Amino acid sequence: MSNPIEIRQIPCLSDNYGYLVHDPVTNMTATIDTPDAEAIKDALSENGWNLSHVLNTHHHPDHAGGNRQLKKETGCTIIGPRAEANNIPAIDEEVGDGDCVSIGSLNAVVYDVPGHTLGHIAYWFKDHGVAFVGDTLFALGCGRVFEGTHRQMWESLQKLMAMPDDTLIYCAHEYTQANAKFALSVEPQNTALVERCDQISALRAENKPTVPSSLGLEKKTNPFLRPTSKMLQETLGMLGSNPIDVFSETRRRKDNF
Ligand code: ZN
Ligand code: FE
Repeated sequence: MSNPIEIRQIPCLSDNYGYLVHDPVTNMTATIDTPDAEAIKDALSENGWNLSHVLNTHHHPDHAGGNRQLKKETGCTIIGPRAEANNIPAIDEEVGDGDCVSIGSLNAVVYDVPGHTLGHIAYWFKDHGVAFVGDTLFALGCGRVFEGTHRQMWESLQKLMAMPDDTLIYCAHEYTQANAKFALSVEPQNTALVERCDQISALRAENKPTVPSSLGLEKKTNPFLRPTSKMLQETLGMLGSNPIDVFSETRRRKDNF
């Protein structure tokens, strides 16, 4: 049995999710990224928690924009990706692939997952079956490839796909409904996808989050994890093509969807 972990989801900005990760054993609390310092402070005080750490996934302002304010007001330690440390405001500790980050008694393994940005990292709380993946893997989608190559992004997604199927994937945006429309357009006969899309519509109609989701469900329904799917290959006119080429074409089509 591992120590308990407490997670709070913070909808903020237009479609971001901030997260608090709390260790009840030591009372330490981390925020995954800092999309909105005020929203994070509100969530901390609602729970009676004090911020001890910031864990940044990448340098974009909707992920690291609240770093300075939170550090100034709480004295927290800011941990972020070594490969883009120059762009992470007020960073204290630089981490990269295979490093271990501890929030009290909670331990996370760092994965380098370049593609969306070149230094993007994910935090896997392996003992708890929870991964914070920033803008790399989304519910039914994946991040836009801004700085890296399609090949890098596909390799990063494959690293995440090697986690156990019951891993809960916490992504940084509520993009699921738009992703669902695209996913249906490329795999219209995927029954698991059709079923999931109905559930997503119902959740969003009530303004409820569709995040987190399990890795296993993403593997069955997320086209960006399914370049080996015959159905997807057929829609793209790429039957028998390499996974990297199918992934790349899927990403291109989504960019223009
Ligand atoms: Zn981003
Ligand atoms: Fe983002």
